[in-house]
Amino acid sequence: AYDHMLKIRERNVSPSLVTYYKKPLLLHQGYMQWLFDYEGRRYLDLFAGIVTISVGHCHPKVTVAAQKQLARLWHTTNIYMHPSIQEYAEKLTSLLPDPLKVVYLTNSGSEANDLAMFMARIYTRNFDIICFRGGYHGGSPYTLGVTSLGPYKHGVANDFGCSATMLPDVFRGPWGGSHCRDSPVQTIRKCSCSGGVCHAKDQYIEQFKDTLNTCVPKKIAGFIAEPIQGVNGTVQYPKSFLKEAYQLVRERGGLCIADEVQTGFGRTGSHFWGFQTHDVLPDIVTMAKGIGNGFPMGAVVTTKEIASSLAQNLHFNTYGGNPVACVVGAAVLDAIEEDGLQKNCEEVGTYMLLELAKLRDKFEIIGDVRGKGLMIGIEMVTNKGSCHPLPNEEINQIWEDCKDMGVLIGRGGLYRQTFRIKPPMCITKRDAEFAVEVFHTALERHMK
Ligand code: PMP
Repeated sequence: AYDHMLKIRERNVSPSLVTYYKKPLLLHQGYMQWLFDYEGRRYLDLFAGIVTISVGHCHPKVTVAAQKQLARLWHTTNIYMHPSIQEYAEKLTSLLPDPLKVVYLTNSGSEANDLAMFMARIYTRNFDIICFRGGYHGGSPYTLGVTSLGPYKHGVANDFGCSATMLPDVFRGPWGGSHCRDSPVQTIRKCSCSGGVCHAKDQYIEQFKDTLNTCVPKKIAGFIAEPIQGVNGTVQYPKSFLKEAYQLVRERGGLCIADEVQTGFGRTGSHFWGFQTHDVLPDIVTMAKGIGNGFPMGAVVTTKEIASSLAQNLHFNTYGGNPVACVVGAAVLDAIEEDGLQKNCEEVGTYMLLELAKLRDKFEIIGDVRGKGLMIGIEMVTNKGSCHPLPNEEINQIWEDCKDMGVLIGRGGLYRQTFRIKPPMCITKRDAEFAVEVFHTALERHMK
């Protein structure tokens, strides 16, 4: 059956879709932090379907809520009312500070970010959007303009590290991580700031001002950034950098958009939203992935005033606010609270970061261990001194080995040099111990 599936995949499924591992996994079932393949092997899922399974695969409560709604009513569109959309909007916004109280439901993160940028332009009547290099905000034509990572880094614009500007007037700010052509490596080191201390902040602020000054006229529509860059390999900003950037954007009339697609819903542990870790208040918050625990949905939350700039009929989608999605979304919020998942992210994440830091001290090929809560990056390098990305064949070997020992890990960064650990938020300390043990063994085998 496996070979048959592989054949169909190669023949009938778009080749643009990446599969992980030399021998891609053919999965059969999931339960909470576990995945099972057709051969009965069990895997600890440390990547959660790309940071999407928030409360656990097939979480019983969420599954039952979806099943009940599926048996009652699947779809209405927004031209009729269904209680689920109002109830969900109320519940979701109760978790956001004033005045972020108005929700627009979407089907994905890309769509949420498209809409956020559209709103910023309509509301401010300005055009320019600012983003950071290394950010990932989606794969739609609109968001491609502000995504400078992942599949879009090379081919589309042939501009190393930058995607095609599908829209005019998108400016990529200085935040580089691994994106500077001239000195990728020093920049990784400067930007990663393990331990959270960064001496490069003033320099970045100056570069950010330069970016803002390239916008003509000097007014901008908006600035979009992830509170922690996810796809770029869990890249964190220097302390107070985002706060200062927000101020500069507002001085130029722009709205600040926080892309919480990966950082939201308690994953960072200390706070429910990533922006709260920077002590900022965005004008627009976008979310997806963990919001639906794998059910396709997303959301834009903003103020009544900004939302009102989208007059009736100015924006429409068929599936946004789908009753099943809303019921699932509400059950996910309940599960986060009832299962204590934000606190779990803090506790298990802190433990894991500490244990991984021990491995960093032990192994020359770990350049950096960083992150917050259950959003962790492990940057692999040839050696700590030079900080060049470890060649992919070598990273692959460690990565495949972890998989063979039952632990699935994600990859990120410009060179795919950073392991990403972003599991379902329900993993336990015992799971974390097991994962670190497996990673340790894989590193030791690699060094032999
Ligand atoms: N924003 C961030 C931070 C993301 O990580 C992603 C997906 N990787 C997106 C937006 C786009 O979301 P989607 O794939 O649901 O369109």
